[in-house]
Amino acid sequence: MQIAFIGLGHMGGPMAVNLHKAGHHIRAFDLSQDACDKARTEGLTLATSAEDAVQGAEVVVSMLPASQHVEALFLGKGGQDGLLQHIAKGTLVIDSSTIAAATSQKVAKAAEAAGIAFIDAPVSGGTGGAIAGTLTFMVGGTDADLERARPVLEKMGANIFHAGSVGAGQTAKICNNMLLGILMIGTSEAMALGVANGLDPKVLAEIMRRSSGGNWALEKYNPYPGVHENAPASKGYAGGFGTDLMLKDLGLAQENAMAMKASTPLGGLARALYAAHSLGGHSGEDFSSVIKMVQKKG
Ligand code: NAD
Repeated sequence: MQIAFIGLGHMGGPMAVNLHKAGHHIRAFDLSQDACDKARTEGLTLATSAEDAVQGAEVVVSMLPASQHVEALFLGKGGQDGLLQHIAKGTLVIDSSTIAAATSQKVAKAAEAAGIAFIDAPVSGGTGGAIAGTLTFMVGGTDADLERARPVLEKMGANIFHAGSVGAGQTAKICNNMLLGILMIGTSEAMALGVANGLDPKVLAEIMRRSSGGNWALEKYNPYPGVHENAPASKGYAGGFGTDLMLKDLGLAQENAMAMKASTPLGGLARALYAAHSLGGHSGEDFSSVIKMVQKKG
């Protein structure tokens, strides 16, 4: 199958490589030259622009940072000069970026008017899951469009959930990431407290992992350096899921909570803490670096 892949960052790069390894013909594009160069060394064929990438594509996959990038790409600045105008009728667009549900619905509506199918399919599982092809997809769209997307999603993920109609995948994703943001801060506090008391971080991590505090961060993404060899914490908090991306997701969750008059006090506090952490010079580090806020210095 010919697939256009737009956005070759920490997640999109390895996802596109998995589709390539599965035998699909990928035409990839990213605005960043570094991302394109890296993708080329992994064997991907690079297009000269997003418009070029979608020529002849049966499926278009996008993996961009935030709502404004997705809207600008597909709808263009004035809503007239976007990529949708260059995508053939009958094509399926799979947007895996984490963005506002309302933006997914806006793009889906414009796509439908142009005879193009659209699903939102944000992911969970981190860069490790993207590389291993074990991501969890949370899909919003029709049954028929999900079944069309399934053979493509299966090459990049291990779990595919149908959350509901377009936008529902995004709602599930922000609920999950609000919980993740909160549990990473909680895990950081517990790790820092134990280590301040002289406990060995690996021993403490293993005790909590197998006790009632066990969670995903303790399983595979410990914020304390040296506990998990492949976690960003053991690599100077490089790569992974950026603090500012977590901040964006917590912002989406709070906007939604306000609209729904929902009570999310810990989600609100987590957003405020990641905002302070970002301003403190950690915006580009992995979000698990939030442990630095609660760690004893020196
Ligand atoms: P990233 O910043 O590493 O990559 C995004 C890429 O999109 C960049 O290379 C950028 O140059 C490119 N881009 C932006 N606008 C573009 C355009 N118009 N055309 C082509 N390329 C464009 O981000 P990431 O970590 O890969 O995350 C991507 C999305 O996945 C985000 O919405 C994020 O919230 C979500 N996500 C990330 C993780 C993670 O662990 N990193 C996990 C789950 C979900």
